Formats: sequence, C-alpha cells, structure tokens
Amino acid sequence: MVQPMSQNTAQNQEKNTLQRPPVVVVMGHVDHGKTTLLDYIRKTRVAEREAGGITQATGAYEIEYKGKKITFIDTPGHQAFTQMRQRGAHIADLAVLVVAADDGVKPQTKEAIEILQQTKTPFVVAINKIDKNNADVDRTKQSLTAAGVLLEKYGGDISWVEISAKEGTGVDELLDHILLMAEMEELTYNPLVAGRGYVLESRRDGQQGITVSVIIKDGIARAGEKICTLSACGKIRSLETFLRERVKELSPSSPAWIVGFETLPEVGEEFVIGADVDTFVNPALAVEEKKQTNAVPIEEGGIHMILKADVSGSLQALSQVLLGLPLKNLKLQIMSQEVGEVTDGDVKLAITTKSAIVAFNVKTAKPAENLARAHHIKIISSDIIYRLIENLEEMDENANKKKVAGVLEILAVFSNKNKKWVIGGKVIEGYLLLQDKCIILRADAPLGRGRITNLQRGKADCKRVEEGSECGLMVETPIELQVGDHIVVEFEE
Ligand code: GDP
Repeated sequence: MVQPMSQNTAQNQEKNTLQRPPVVVVMGHVDHGKTTLLDYIRKTRVAEREAGGITQATGAYEIEYKGKKITFIDTPGHQAFTQMRQRGAHIADLAVLVVAADDGVKPQTKEAIEILQQTKTPFVVAINKIDKNNADVDRTKQSLTAAGVLLEKYGGDISWVEISAKEGTGVDELLDHILLMAEMEELTYNPLVAGRGYVLESRRDGQQGITVSVIIKDGIARAGEKICTLSACGKIRSLETFLRERVKELSPSSPAWIVGFETLPEVGEEFVIGADVDTFVNPALAVEEKKQTNAVPIEEGGIHMILKADVSGSLQALSQVLLGLPLKNLKLQIMSQEVGEVTDGDVKLAITTKSAIVAFNVKTAKPAENLARAHHIKIISSDIIYRLIENLEEMDENANKKKVAGVLEILAVFSNKNKKWVIGGKVIEGYLLLQDKCIILRADAPLGRGRITNLQRGKADCKRVEEGSECGLMVETPIELQVGDHIVVEFEE
C-alpha cells in the first residue's frame, strides 16, 4: 500500500508543475470595441480603490473572477502579440476575437484569425455592440463562417458570446468561457526553474530609470536577481505588481513592473531571470570552456553534426545511415553522439564546432531551444529517419549558398580613424552580433569586408541588435563607408 503513494510523490516531484492563470489577449478590427471591453472588465473586476490608481497603460492587468485569476494584455492589437508570429513566442495563452455585430468580419479581423490559427491559440468570439439598433448577429456569424471560423452550433467548435462591451451585457458569460478554455488548456508552470516571460512595454522613467512591464510565464521572478533579454540586461532593483505595489516575488501568469534594466529591452522579447541568464545571453564563456575540453579536431569546410537519440541502438543506426549517405558537396563529420534530449550543453558545443544538431526521437529542452534560436544553430528533429536524411540532403544541396543573418543600413557616418569607422544605422533585416564579420554593399554591389567591433544601443554597449532597432557601431574596414551603404552579415546553414 505504501508503493502507490511514493510513486505518486515521485511523479509530482518529477513534474514540479503548478496551475497558473491564463494570459488573454483581445484582438479584432479597429473600432469593434476592444478597448471598451478591456476597460469594462478592468473597471468592474479590478477592485475600485485599485482601479482608480491605474491612469496609464499598464501593458497588462489581472482580475479575479469566481475566485480565479485571469491576466489580460491591455493594449489592443499589442505589438508583442503580433510578434508571436515572427518569434514563435507564446505570450498569450488564449484570445478573445471581438467582432462588431453592426460591421461583421473586416480586414483586421481576418488578420487576427490568421494569427490565431497560425499560432494555434485557442480563442472565443465576442460578438459585440448587440445593443445597437443595426446589430445583426446572424449576418456577423455568417461572415465569421465565411472567414473560416466555424462556430459552435454551426458545425464547428469555436465558442461565441453575444456582448455589449458598452453596457456590460454578456461579459460575465465571456469570462466564464475564458475560465473554461483555461481549464481545458491545463496551463502550468514550474516553481523550481528560473523565471522567464515576455516584455510588454519598456520605457525610460525620469525618477526610476528604465521601467519595463512584463508577463511572467514560468518559474518565479524575485527581486534582486539578474534579468536579461537577448538585447538588454540588468538586475531587478524593484519588482512591482501591475498596481505598482512592491513585492519580493511573483509567480506566473502575473503582469509585473521591473526596474533595473541597464538598457531598454525590446517589446515582445523573451526574458530570463537568475540562473539561466548566462547561458541565455552570453554563451561565449561556456563556449570557451567547451573549446578547451572539446577533443574532436574540426575539419574545415565539412558539415558538422551532433547526434542525439532516444536509445543507443537508434543512435548507432542513425550515425551509420548518415555517414553512408552519398553527399555531393559536403563531408559529414560527427562531433559527438549521445543518448538523451537536446540540452543547452549540446547547443554550446554546436556553437563552438559550427554544427547542426540532429535529434532522433528526443525532445529539445527549452533553454537549449532558446540558445539555438539566438545563435542560429539548426536543430533537425524528427522521429522518422527518412526526414532527417531529406534535411541533410537539402543542406548538402544548399551547401554553397550563404544566407543573410542581418542587414544594417548606414544612417550616419561619424568618424574614421585607422580604418575604424564609427557609424549609426538601423537594422533592416535579421540582427547583428558584436564581432560579426560583415560585407559592405553599395547599391547591392559588394565593396569589401569588415568586422563589427563595437555595438551600442542608447549609448550602452550591447552584444546584439534586432531588426527595427537603431544602433551605433564601430566597423573595422578599409572601405570608405557612406550613408546608405548596407552592412550585411551572413551565416552558413
Ligand atoms: P477598438 O478600436 O476596437 O479598441 O474600439 P473601441 O473600444 O475604441 O470602440 C470604438 C467605438 O465603439 C467607441 O465609440 C465605443 O464607445 C463604441 N463601442 C464599443 N463597444 C460598444 C458596444 O458594445 N455598444 C455600442 N453601442 N458601442 C460600442
């Protein structure tokens, strides 16, 4: 009789998961009532005394309904959510698609539907403005069906609620649906891992310095710990709830204000706190360590691979199959092969050895996934050997084609001393990393090569600048740089 109990405890310890509230985003066409809905919920569900205190956009707020918490991202059409598409990030767990009953599906409704479908975000439709004389719920439902949203009772399984955000009709029913969806999604977090989440707003506050609004999605955020995104770092000097009450720690899915970043992080970026910071943003140290211990000599010009598989039998089979492939351009070199999931240690080895990781029938740990994304390490993952072979053959085909990692347009040339150019520019594609080798293009024609030896955002040194950001940089190159030139960084797949 003792056994089942101890098994149970072991399972719980292994999973280490606790339930967390849903993070909800409200989407829809302009003027269909997103702000009105969010305002109504905030006014009626955040306690009066507290709601009065929120005068400016907070990025997100939290309510309690029927004893359960719900976090709403309170900027409609929030940029952070749109970025989910590009970054594959999951800031919101659920969505409310607002469609005005007097207007039906419009272009931005369609765009929202597309994002929701692509990101597989569960959503409930709120048919709004039903108080209006010209509201036509039936026609609105037809327009939703035509746009590919198959509603419950109409042959589909997407829930819908008729509401008036202005008068509050149906809003409780909408909240009931949100709680139901959250229950079905089984949203959890692990309290034992380092905190992580996403940046919603980021601004310079006169008194406090850089103040950043975030949503915590996993682990626990604690005051005093280090915090980093890929573009900015700091230490949590002050941790506050969305109501700006200072606290020592916060758990998911709380919105929070964080003071302590040294430079402005970008909206939509993922952040990590505490123990995972170093491997997340600066694997250089770990890379150095690996260089010293890495015994396999690297053959230049070949394709390097790190193999991971579920059991040793399949690992052996995999390496035999891959090494036996008749490749046209590439010479395959296996840098390491091991049983087990893909870890950040594997990714660090991949960075030093410029390898791709082949994962057969194993998962990739989240920190490893983030690190790989940040350093363009390819993880070829499948449980079908044939797919892995196809991938490798494709890499072989593309072997001699280079790909662009980032492009910066020069907006200002400040100085040139001993071929060290201090310039300003905007990243118009991808991203740039400190110490990247680059090519200088003028009117699309290559002029020569150089290296980025300093990167700055907002006058502070940084290691990485993302698409859309302006930055200052030093480029060492014999080329006479001009405004309008493009600095292009390439990477090999
Ligand atoms: P958003 O652009 O989607 O955030 O839309 P807003 O919330 O700003 O609403 C646009 C306009 O529609 C405003 O004038 C609102 O007062 C009005 N509105 C929003 N919801 C309702 C509703 O349920 N009924 C009526 N009659 N008007 C509404």
